[in-house]
Amino acid sequence: MSDKIRLRFAPSPTGFLHIGSLRTVLYNYLIAKSLGGILFLRIEDTDSKREVEGAVEKLIEILDWVGIKFDEGPGSIRGTTNAAHPNENKDVGDYGPYIQSRRLDIYKKYTQELLAKGEAYPCFCTEERLIKMRADAEAMKKPPRYDRACRDLSKEEVAKRIAAGEKYVIRHKLPVAGEITVHDELRGDIKFNLVDLDDYVLIKSNGIPVYQFAVVVDDHLMETSHVVRADEWISSLPKNILLYKSFGWEAPKFIHLPLVLDKNGGKLSKRNNDVAVEDFRAKGYLPEALLNYNALLGWHPAGEKEIFSMDEAIAEFKYQDIGTSPAVFSAEKLDYLNGIYIRKKELPELIALCKPYLEENLKLTSNEHKKSDQFVGKVIALERERLKKLSEIGEHTKFFFVDNLSYDKAMLVWKKSTPESARASLEDLLKILEAIVDADWETEKIEEIVVKYIKDNNKGVGDYLWPMRVALTGEKASPSPFEMADVLGKSETIDKIKKAIAKL
Ligand code: GLU
Repeated sequence: MSDKIRLRFAPSPTGFLHIGSLRTVLYNYLIAKSLGGILFLRIEDTDSKREVEGAVEKLIEILDWVGIKFDEGPGSIRGTTNAAHPNENKDVGDYGPYIQSRRLDIYKKYTQELLAKGEAYPCFCTEERLIKMRADAEAMKKPPRYDRACRDLSKEEVAKRIAAGEKYVIRHKLPVAGEITVHDELRGDIKFNLVDLDDYVLIKSNGIPVYQFAVVVDDHLMETSHVVRADEWISSLPKNILLYKSFGWEAPKFIHLPLVLDKNGGKLSKRNNDVAVEDFRAKGYLPEALLNYNALLGWHPAGEKEIFSMDEAIAEFKYQDIGTSPAVFSAEKLDYLNGIYIRKKELPELIALCKPYLEENLKLTSNEHKKSDQFVGKVIALERERLKKLSEIGEHTKFFFVDNLSYDKAMLVWKKSTPESARASLEDLLKILEAIVDADWETEKIEEIVVKYIKDNNKGVGDYLWPMRVALTGEKASPSPFEMADVLGKSETIDKIKKAIAKL
């Protein structure tokens, strides 16, 4: 094998990107870059049962959004299109095609090679026979295995049956006894009993290879140095290694990433959890937060630090620091990190990110100013401290946009106070606020003036601030009434206080 460092992300297009696959692609990226190597994208679409219309495009689109840059891959992936490859559909890199369904001729050639070496054989067993064999094994409580009936057919018989048009698959001829030791970079050596392995199918009767075959041929031809994949593939490792041996190829290094479980210890499944990265995007998670969070699912950096930019993570990442015990997916932790990344955004970018979530709110007002970036920006600047995901901005900020708030007038009355006293407070407030000059209309100044009045006149803070808050928001919980007044502006504030007085 060459000393190049080449890693691949090899998803099957199932219609969405599973959050676990996001961790896989990220770890591939981190390992590739921390070792000074490259990452390529290979689409594993030979299993047509799982194929979903438009799935490859969707996959590439979401990977683009996530922002992981591939050095090679199908031409439409971001980071791989460049001046040298103006044609978007042209592969970028010298190891293509990077989509398995475009590599069928290559697989054919290597199938022939394997047959010629006597490392594989055609199997003519019918579906009915195989089903019966499985049922019999089950009845005898034995593991379902192929009985190798076609393993030793003569060349002549094989040729005759093929010529007669019989359907056949190609099976890998495995050693029938003994042990195989395979190596995982994180777990060390793992022993498997060869009797537990089957002469499994490499090529289906339609000539299409299964994953186990295509993955080995491609990883060899594409000079993959490290296969980094989910834990669930570890049971494939002996088959993979035996196939490398059958071809006489040196195998890459293997790193199987620990499982990711939900908080109840179950698999992260669609039924109980959001698992599609697309769902996380729709809820307003930022790619930076998803990547940072996923980086910590299995990787244990040396210090306490947990906020990592991609460059920082690459600088600190050592694949030897990946654990082997399952990681637990915590939505709370992800929310926390997302909040941090939201607050790191410059306001103009945050406005653009929040806008899709504010569309409904903008319909609540007929005041054009409230639809401007200036107003929306003030609202967002105030709310971003509390925001955990962008989608919350709509619900959190409705009251900024409603021209005519509807609330029960009883809400204006503070604790044991009375409607009369609430009204008197609001009338006082109206006078105070009307007297504030435009230049002083900002949170601190308004607060200073109102609080001074309350103190100088020995009034209760709640008696003033409570009805003011409700008058401006129609809510019991909101930003402070001074912040509200600042964002709404003087004339709307006054208007809302007048409307509250009219209610009482
Ligand atoms: N195509 C496999 C999947 O669906 C990838 C396994 C691998 O990385 O080898 O996840």
